[in-house]
Order: sequence, then structure tokens, then C-alpha cells
Amino acid sequence: MLILMKQDATPEQIQSVCQRVRDIGFVPHEIPGAIRTAIGVTGNQGPVSAEHFQDLLGVSECVPVSKPYKLVSREVKPESTVVDVRGVRIGDGTLSIVAGPCSVESREQVMRTAEAVAASGAKFFRGGAFKPRTSPYLFQGLKEEGLRLLEEVKRSFDLRIITEAKDTETLPLVAECADVVQIGARNMQNFSLLEAAGRQRKPVLLKRGMSATIQELFMAAEYVLSLGNYNVILCERGIRTYETMTRNTFDLSAVVMMKRHSHLPVMADPSHGVGINWAVGPLARASVAVGADGVMIETHPNPAMALSDGQQSLTLEQYAELAKELREMAAWQAGRRG
Ligand code: PEP
Ligand code: MN
Repeated sequence: MLILMKQDATPEQIQSVCQRVRDIGFVPHEIPGAIRTAIGVTGNQGPVSAEHFQDLLGVSECVPVSKPYKLVSREVKPESTVVDVRGVRIGDGTLSIVAGPCSVESREQVMRTAEAVAASGAKFFRGGAFKPRTSPYLFQGLKEEGLRLLEEVKRSFDLRIITEAKDTETLPLVAECADVVQIGARNMQNFSLLEAAGRQRKPVLLKRGMSATIQELFMAAEYVLSLGNYNVILCERGIRTYETMTRNTFDLSAVVMMKRHSHLPVMADPSHGVGINWAVGPLARASVAVGADGVMIETHPNPAMALSDGQQSLTLEQYAELAKELREMAAWQAGRRG
């Protein structure tokens, strides 16, 4: 259920509707809009009767929400969400570039990479400290030491840190360092982790599970929003299909669908999407062309020696060239939109 307030509803009237929602045992979510405020109601198992709210002052209309996800849908919030990350906005119509290595490996590796990422004009640095690896014998990340190195990147450059939280135990530690907490494909339906991410206040980058439908991704995001963290960025990173020539099948139609059906910013990750160095550039450009709010690129000073995902990592030089192209494309697109 969505309660639409009148345009001239006062803050007191909005608060008394929220209180009524709480009184009947549900959770209110205030959604300020350009024209009017809406209040989303969650916590109900079945339909909520409009009778509870219809007569309250300032209420214009009560609209049932037909979809299994509510707070993430454009039906509930027509205006696009802009996520503010320490003064840098994701989803405001400009292109956000996120770049860095798959894993934090050493001080020299992260500092060299961060220097190149900052020089490219990007504002976001990625790098995993806690790595969810398919085999227990593969590099698991530098863990706490990795977070300390990311802190150093944060102090030394004008870069915001995006790093993955692998489980609920280490989430508080990761969230202390991260400007944006990443929840990876393997954890997209780790509901305890989603709930914990919803209870803390750092923005969340939620990657699509490797066999998740778009609706399932929306419902995973709904867990985070329903607990009061509205700063979620969705990320397409490829899905598993019968195709074997690429690491995953990079689903750009998902970017378009997500933008249409959700107000949340959408990022595209062609590095994991295709998994092959030379194919990352064309698919990054395609991501910008279809309207992704951001692009995530893995880059490494020496991809051949990378401890994870070297085959898809760009050299720092390849990355610099691509970032320039992507920014030119985004500027051209912005010019066309006027
Ligand atoms: C990553 O970003 O390095 C990563 C592990 O991504 P994904 O969860 O999409 O596989
Ligand atoms: Mn990776």
C-alpha cells in the first residue's frame, strides 16, 4: 500500500499518518517527492485496508501496490534516486566510474592503482579485502590488513571506497572503512546479510546473483530498503547461461529494465559480465550507451600477476584510455539530452 499525501500536506499531517501506520503494527516509509510526499507501508502480509488512512488530514489517495517489491519500484517513487557518497552523487545523470583491482593485494598495488584511478577523474575506488572465492584454496583476501590499505587510499586520494562485505560477522568492520558496501553476486540472497546491510547506514551496491531474475534482485534490494536504508545501487554483472565463450552473459537488457521499473541507480560491471580483458571496453561503452548510471571496471598494474580475476583486468594504461572514452561518451549523451 502506498499513501499519497496532498501537495500541501503539513509535516505534522505526514507524521500522524506514519504514526497510524505504526499503531496498526506496520512500518511507514516516508518518500519525499518533487510534488508531494508518499508513505510506503510495509510489514503487512496481505492487503492493508485504505479505511485506516482515508480520513486522516492531508491524505489524498491510498493506492495498493501490485508488485512483490514495493519500495524499490518506480510505481512507488517516480523520481530517480540519487545516492550521495561523501558529496559525490550516483544516479544524477552523470556517469560514475568505479575502478580498481579485484582484490587488494599489497600496499604498492593499491596505491599505484589508486593513483591511476584518481588521475582518470573517477571518484570511486573498488577492491575486495574479504573475497568470497569459489575454491577455499584460492586467495581469500588480505582481510583486516586489506581494509587498512583501503583506509590509506581514502586518506591519500579524492576517492570513495567500494568494498565487499562477505558475511554478517565482518560487515561492521567493512562498513567502517567502506563508503559503499558491496554485496556480491554470491550473496545476493543471503537474507541475513541483506537485513544487516539494511540496518546500517552506508550505501549498498547490490550485485545481481548469477542466476537471479531482475525481480529477485529487486526483492533482495527490498530487504535493504524495508529496513530503512534507502541508498541502494543495483548492479548488473552478468548471469550464467549455456554460453561458455564468455565468463558470464552480460545482460544489458537488465540495465534498461531496472532503470524502467526501479528508481534506484543502476551500475554495470562488464569486467565480471564478460570476463575477458579485450571485451571489457566494448561492453563498458555499451553500458554507457544503454544508460547505466555507473560502470565498474577491474584494473591492475600487472594483470598477469593478479591474485584474482587477472584475465578480465585492464592494465592501468588500458583503463586510462577507456575511462577517457567513457567520459566523452557520457558528455555527448548529456549534451543530446540537453
Ligand atoms: C567482485 O566485484 O570482485 C566480485 C566478486 O563480483 P561478483 O560478486 O559480481 O562476482
Ligand atoms: Mn573480481
